[in-house]
Amino acid sequence: MTEKDLTEEEIFAFRRQLFAWHRTCARPMPWKGERDPYLVWLSEVILQQTRVEQGLPWFERFRKRFPTVHDLANASEDEVLKLWEGLGYYARARNLWRTARHVAHELDGRFPDTYEGLLRLKGVGPYTAAAVASFAFGRPHAVVDGNVLRVLARYLADDTPIDTSAGKRHFTALANRLLDPQRPGPFNQAMMDLGATVCRPMRPRCDACPLAGRCRSRAQGRPTDFPVRQRKLQVRTRHIHYFACDDGTATLLLQRPPGDVWAGLFDFPWVETKDAQAPAPESLFAQSKWLEEVTATAFERCWQHRQRLTHQLVHATYWRVACAPLPEPPAPLQRVTFENLRKFALPKMTGEFCKRFL
Ligand code: SF4
Repeated sequence: MTEKDLTEEEIFAFRRQLFAWHRTCARPMPWKGERDPYLVWLSEVILQQTRVEQGLPWFERFRKRFPTVHDLANASEDEVLKLWEGLGYYARARNLWRTARHVAHELDGRFPDTYEGLLRLKGVGPYTAAAVASFAFGRPHAVVDGNVLRVLARYLADDTPIDTSAGKRHFTALANRLLDPQRPGPFNQAMMDLGATVCRPMRPRCDACPLAGRCRSRAQGRPTDFPVRQRKLQVRTRHIHYFACDDGTATLLLQRPPGDVWAGLFDFPWVETKDAQAPAPESLFAQSKWLEEVTATAFERCWQHRQRLTHQLVHATYWRVACAPLPEPPAPLQRVTFENLRKFALPKMTGEFCKRFL
């Protein structure tokens, strides 16, 4: 089915049923009804690849610390990364900060008020541009996130793969056809709420769904066969050994390089192995190009942790390494006293290790 096959009658019924349901079943969220483009944009960037319940505390923290785009633009990148700590996908935090600086300094603090203008901002893709355009400026653009894709694919029993460019274009065209141009913001919010609370990924609550009467996949008795994906997610497994050097007062940190996970955050020096079978820690330690000047006297394996990311499964082993007094190290290493550790933005699992074992 294409957007042209949807009849006017079906489109109006869809909107009517969706709005009637949303009047009583909307999810309460602090940014609902927000028209300030800065706060809409902030909430949408925080919610990219993050569940609402998880992102909420970060939204409150950022709103309180940076109430305007100028406040965010005037902060340092390190402060923004530190406040973002624990939320993951740190490229979002860096883009957030860069875009705030661009808007504050180049655009006089005003966000573009069109979809196309918003798309030109760093870190703003079709989803965020449609959200800001519709919620803040009332522009008729459908927001198409995972929740909306699921509702549409199931409602129409549409087996077009959602993870291809053609599939995304196809479902965006359908969503824009169904969108109420008079009330694009409330329509988008209702679609996302329906996907999140009723048309759930594993156990859709079809009995409570306002669209159940015309839902094709429900009529066929197979809602969870949709949406369809073309590719299986390729997950890379990594084995990383971290060395938390300890001379009694300080340790060593370095900033993670661009192009890898947690880029820009600070971490203990590490060595990566091909598989789970690793040589003795003394030998791993000696392989590290960063630690050539450091004299280790004892190794203690404190913690093993598994962290699942979208495309990676990281098996981390944290070693506490008793050391002779640490020299002032060459870049990129930094000598950091234990009391100053909390000033650095660390990946979540390294932060957890520090809390538990240092
Ligand atoms: S009837 Fe079921 S499958 Fe269809 S849109 Fe509603 S919750 Fe989803």
